[in-house]
Amino acid sequence: MTHIFGFERSQLLLLPEAVDDYVGIDNPVRFIDQFVDGLDLTAAGFNRVTPKATGRPGYAPGDLLKLYIYGYLNRVRSSRRLEAECHRNVEVIWLLRTLKPDFKTIADFRSENRTAFKAVFRQFTLLCKDLKLFGRELLAVDGTRIKAVNNKDKNFTRNSLEKFIKAVDERLEEYLKRLDEGDVAEAGTDGSRVKNLAEKIEALRKKRGRYGALLADLEKSGESQISLTDSDSRAMAAHTKVGVGYNIQIAVDAKNKMIVEQEVTNQVVDMGLLTETAEPARAILDVEHIDVVADRGYFKIEDIEACEKAGMTPYVPQPQRGSSVKNGLFRKDEFHYDAARDVYVCPAGEALSRNHESTLHDLKRFHYTNPAACSACPLRVRCTTTANRRQVTRLENEAVLDRVAARLKARPWVLDRRREVVEHPFGSIKQWMYQGAFLTKGLEKVRAEFSLTALAYNFDGPSTSSALGVATTEIRGEMREKRRCAWGAIGKSRANAVSTRPATLIPFLIDQNLCAQSRSPMDMILQG
Ligand code: SF4
Repeated sequence: MTHIFGFERSQLLLLPEAVDDYVGIDNPVRFIDQFVDGLDLTAAGFNRVTPKATGRPGYAPGDLLKLYIYGYLNRVRSSRRLEAECHRNVEVIWLLRTLKPDFKTIADFRSENRTAFKAVFRQFTLLCKDLKLFGRELLAVDGTRIKAVNNKDKNFTRNSLEKFIKAVDERLEEYLKRLDEGDVAEAGTDGSRVKNLAEKIEALRKKRGRYGALLADLEKSGESQISLTDSDSRAMAAHTKVGVGYNIQIAVDAKNKMIVEQEVTNQVVDMGLLTETAEPARAILDVEHIDVVADRGYFKIEDIEACEKAGMTPYVPQPQRGSSVKNGLFRKDEFHYDAARDVYVCPAGEALSRNHESTLHDLKRFHYTNPAACSACPLRVRCTTTANRRQVTRLENEAVLDRVAARLKARPWVLDRRREVVEHPFGSIKQWMYQGAFLTKGLEKVRAEFSLTALAYNFDGPSTSSALGVATTEIRGEMREKRRCAWGAIGKSRANAVSTRPATLIPFLIDQNLCAQSRSPMDMILQG
């Protein structure tokens, strides 16, 4: 028994003559090629789509875009590694027709066209909509933190700077005291200890100056944090850890767990981002009404109200917070609001009526009490820590929250569905696609990076693959037949045979009635 051996490296082989023969007919690079060729890159916002009349010719933006899409789809994001792939990867050699741009050209392309990548993501989303890959009934919204190119030690808040300055001042004071004592003690010696202390004091003074300047910059900017390496990034909590990064927001359609809308912000919490994320998704899906579910981190009355006004039906659970929850007393949701009488009915069955009003973040708020009932109530120890009454507050527009609570009571499973839907993309992006820290600095460049990541996720999702698989199987059959004719009947060269491949994949998908409407990719781009 022997092992399996390969050919001798020096042996002459009858290899196919065309690069096209090395790439299978159902290889995803063929779709990347067709998809990019169908885009209107000028409308998408790419630079230098039309070459200049003079000067050295540059690479076509379409070729570099194909390289990036291929790279993100295959977990290759760095420009140096993409350059390497151009030399050794047969799929890339096919895709770029043997072009070999250097890493700087590749990196500059992503940087210079940073605003155009979102348009490309959107075009693919529109194509998926035409392929009926979206259910258009339920959107799940969620956010995650992705690390920026900024170490935690290079991020400062006002508090941390004040703390550092205080610590430096204390240390300085101690050194100065020791310096005075050393002057006396080392009189008549070479004074080396005093010299060391003086150097330390000088270094501390410089440090204090740096912290002071940072604090002044922070005050001037009106921001709450300052990041030195990537000035747009912010320290934010991800589970129990705090890291410096960006907040990624996505709206995912429940049918095939595909991303419909994505945005990168440096807002440290999700609160207030519900409508901002869901509304563009609703517009892309082109529906009048859609259900939107998010976790309790998005619970904000103004945002939920805006969501309803925009034609969406939000499902957001109310977080249990406040002093009553902390002290283990009756929660507010254990009090029933009777709209007809404008009173709250407490767990003891007593009616708390409107007493006075105040404002909370510019919102009008009413206070409900019943001191007489509370002072004689046997449940008082479980209800309030104040001497004689429990107070319940209600915002002027709190009917919005009552509606959300009623909806959640009627469809409690929607929260489990949310987890199932929205955590799939984040899990895939972080675990399967190895999305580590962003490679670029600045909000706009990071947005370009994540647009490519989201495009790659949608592109390689099981549903997309299966929809494209139907088409590519048909194409494969068609190709085989054409090759057979080309070889057998015509008897021409193989190069001629492979040139008979279908001209474009996207029109093929549309022709095969895989699309809801027969719009061309070009139309879709223009409408985007
Ligand atoms: S303390 Fe007042 S509000 Fe609380 S259960 Fe008793 S009567 Fe109701």
